[in-house]
Amino acid sequence: MDNVYQRLGINTLINATGPVSRLSGGIMHAEVVTAMAEASQASVDMATLQARASEMIVEATGAEAGIVTAGAAAGLLLGTAACITGLDPGRMNRLPDTQGLPDQVIMVRSQRNGYDHVIRASGASIVEVGLPDRFAGAGKRDAEAWEIADAISERTAAIVWMASAQARPPLEAVVEVATRAGVPLLVDAAAQLPPAANLRRFITAGADLVVFSGGKGLGGPQASGLLCGRRDLISAAILQQLDLDVRDGEWDPPPTLIDLRQLKGLPQQGIGRACKVGKEEIAGLLVALRRFTQESDDARFARWNRRAQSLASSIGSVFDGEIEVSAASPVPKVQITFQADGAFRAEDLARRLREGRPAVYADASEVDAGRVVFSPVCLRDDDVPVIASRVQAALGRIR
Ligand SMILES: *Cc1c(COP(=O)(O)O)cnc(C)c1O
Repeated sequence: MDNVYQRLGINTLINATGPVSRLSGGIMHAEVVTAMAEASQASVDMATLQARASEMIVEATGAEAGIVTAGAAAGLLLGTAACITGLDPGRMNRLPDTQGLPDQVIMVRSQRNGYDHVIRASGASIVEVGLPDRFAGAGKRDAEAWEIADAISERTAAIVWMASAQARPPLEAVVEVATRAGVPLLVDAAAQLPPAANLRRFITAGADLVVFSGGKGLGGPQASGLLCGRRDLISAAILQQLDLDVRDGEWDPPPTLIDLRQLKGLPQQGIGRACKVGKEEIAGLLVALRRFTQESDDARFARWNRRAQSLASSIGSVFDGEIEVSAASPVPKVQITFQADGAFRAEDLARRLREGRPAVYADASEVDAGRVVFSPVCLRDDDVPVIASRVQAALGRIR
């Protein structure tokens, strides 16, 4: 079958890692693809489309407002910018120059990560707190809420909290500090879906802004994400993302999203203009969001589990070692484990799978523990026998 990648002369791969950006994310449902194709065949006012998106995001998250962004990382940039500028168009025009503005973002040191570069891209600098010696094997502590409170000053724009099972201090304690100081709290929940309850959880707990990836668990377009939260901050964010090549008086955005009466004038093209979102991504993400909220976590798990079980039994027919389907996370995963003193190593299998044709990208993040992991999320059903035969070939050569 001829497809665009063949015409480009590019080999496709089998993505058993999960919806990571490097491997082009997942395979969208046909209904999402159709929405994107239909969206591309008509013109709309982008502020009006984002205002409609906001209504649907509000319904799904319980937040006051929301917008579609060009990924969760774009949401972090826009959210930080919004916390620095508020609804002041003069401040928006100055970013990333933050001289004289509140431009510090407080983060717990153990929560720093590669994605926080985009927080600094707004012009902010990150102030780290805490000494996470629990990770050094030399202690048991991490940052405490009072240390975050201590770091707050006139220059504080926001506190950022990375949602994860091991995050310390707990969200509730950080919310309390942020609320007492009147500092906005931005939560990075990019990879926290499913479970679907997380769409509401951080907002309910008191976060001012939350970002989610559109291309991970939501099953939307790769270049999409959600930013939701306080209405004034969402207005400030969308004003710095939309194309504002327009004169005063010529633009009439929906007041539910952007209330022009709150602004002394219109800002120029903003710091988020480089994270433009197309109508196609917005339409696709909204359909993906609807599909995600309509499917129960149990049904989603069962759908992935069927594929994981079928992969485990296919691999089991060519590999006599230890195979299990693990349900430790919201996604069931096939794990094959090699003995430390055995003839071949997990990392050899992962490498040989990558090097073959078609290339199979297993999740190699646990090879040091002797495990190669296969996620069902980005697989097509017809990938299952291909993976098994590639495993057989790779093991045969290792033996
Ligand atoms: C994936 C991820 C991001 C980036 O999400 P995109 O939608 O690809 O921009 C940001 N933060 C965390 C914690 C992530 O896991």
